[in-house]
Amino acid sequence: MNISENIDRIFKDIEIHSPHPEKVELIAVTKYVDSETIKKVLEGGAKNLGENRVQIITKKNDELSDFPIEKKWHFIGNLQKNKVKYIASFIDMIHSVNKLSLAQEIDKRASEHNKKIDVLLEINLFEEETKEGYDYLELLQDIPALLNLKNINIKGLMTMAPYTDNDDFIRSGFRRIRELKDELNKLYFNDTLTELSMGMSNDYKIALEEGATLIRVGSKIFE
Ligand SMILES: *Cc1c(COP(=O)(O)O)cnc(C)c1O
Repeated sequence: MNISENIDRIFKDIEIHSPHPEKVELIAVTKYVDSETIKKVLEGGAKNLGENRVQIITKKNDELSDFPIEKKWHFIGNLQKNKVKYIASFIDMIHSVNKLSLAQEIDKRASEHNKKIDVLLEINLFEEETKEGYDYLELLQDIPALLNLKNINIKGLMTMAPYTDNDDFIRSGFRRIRELKDELNKLYFNDTLTELSMGMSNDYKIALEEGATLIRVGSKIFE
């Protein structure tokens, strides 16, 4: 495994496959590795780190606190309301807001730390296995209340594709989420939704072609 070569290959893919590579960030999903290995990721030039477990991101954040390379932490997993307090002080972006009550809790904890936390609204586009995201109609009902929360910045949408070899199916899902973003921007957000978090090791090239701005890649970095 050569982490920095793997990261370079993904950076090249961003240049090749994205229509707007300057707007794209790689989120290195480090849930498979320990903090020593994360140092190599940071040295390899990936500065955005993604984790999906509260206990583990908190531990790694402590372990890396003295490491000199700057980083940003992204929370990408299902987040329980009662655990927001453990990550609020150091988290940079939460990709998985799927309920009003969760957004309200993030807002409250952010205000306790005198900060604003960037969040994405997770959409359950593919309507199967991953039942975690918002259903679109449900989201529309919550938007007025979401817009009232002063300590979160709603930056865009996130989705997860199911495991399938059907690239056309995945592509049409990613395209649909881009269209939803455009629609929400027109109706409610006045073009402040700028981010689309979509694409993992198996499908990030498709996601890039369909306008992803944040790709969440794990296995491809550590193979
Ligand atoms: C694990 C995970 C990823 C990365 O998956 P890979 O297939 O290893 O690239 C991306 N997003 C979420 C939400 C994850 O849990």
